[in-house]
Amino acid sequence: MINEIRPYTFKNEYRNIEPRKEDIALIYKDTDVLLKKYGDLISFPKISELIDKDLKFEYRFLFTIDSINYFLIELKKIVLLDDFNFQSISIFRNSSPKHLSFAGITGYQLYKWYEKNKYCGKCGTKMYHSLKSRTMVCPNCNDTRYPFLAPAVIVAIVNNDKILVTKYAHRKLSNYALVAGYAEIGESIEETVMREVKEEVGLNVKNIKYYKSQPWSFSGSLLFGFFCELDGSVEIILDENELSMAKWIKKDEIKEDYSPLSLTSEMIQAFKGNRY
Ligand SMILES: [Zn+2]
Repeated sequence: MINEIRPYTFKNEYRNIEPRKEDIALIYKDTDVLLKKYGDLISFPKISELIDKDLKFEYRFLFTIDSINYFLIELKKIVLLDDFNFQSISIFRNSSPKHLSFAGITGYQLYKWYEKNKYCGKCGTKMYHSLKSRTMVCPNCNDTRYPFLAPAVIVAIVNNDKILVTKYAHRKLSNYALVAGYAEIGESIEETVMREVKEEVGLNVKNIKYYKSQPWSFSGSLLFGFFCELDGSVEIILDENELSMAKWIKKDEIKEDYSPLSLTSEMIQAFKGNRY
């Protein structure tokens, strides 16, 4: 999965530190990111490259991978560096090395959070950055904003030797998906599983078992994967607002995928290989 970057180590404890020349600059513009690309290989600018060009910038520490710190950089004016271009963040679905793809998409989630929390949601005053933690604080009403995550479930519904796969409505993704959805206020994550299954495909499930989680920064969510068994009727009642199709497939109808990017793909492969 995209977040599995061994032997590299990701550390995201907040530190109030200054960038060094060898550290990495993550520069975003809407849904684009500044990077250099050779085939599938990507690289980000180093802080030294900004300094060499005498570019004025503001920085925000994001995280560390091994000994390199990653900073969110806001240039005072956008100047393109040699060989670097803005590309859609969807590039991180297929780029390598993997630890840089993970850094790029994780930085994007933090960039979006900072973008959306410049002003206090209660009183509208401009917020300031806490120097002690990754929080935004309102100087007027003291309201404190912590990084936002949307918990969501990915559900593999198993019926003997079959699994229920889906495709999203209004999306071009060709791969199979699983039933999925966001947790609502007031429910446990297991209740989210049962509600989403009922809403999207009209089925009942039992024996809900937690599998694994995955940070999914493309949508700002934290995914919780569950396997469960069909309970009762196999008849699918499709929610056509959410899904374009849902069907039961057998293990031998699933294509091998040796490096699944998403929790969804990994779970479909785990079903195929009886690893759940
Ligand atoms: Zn306020």
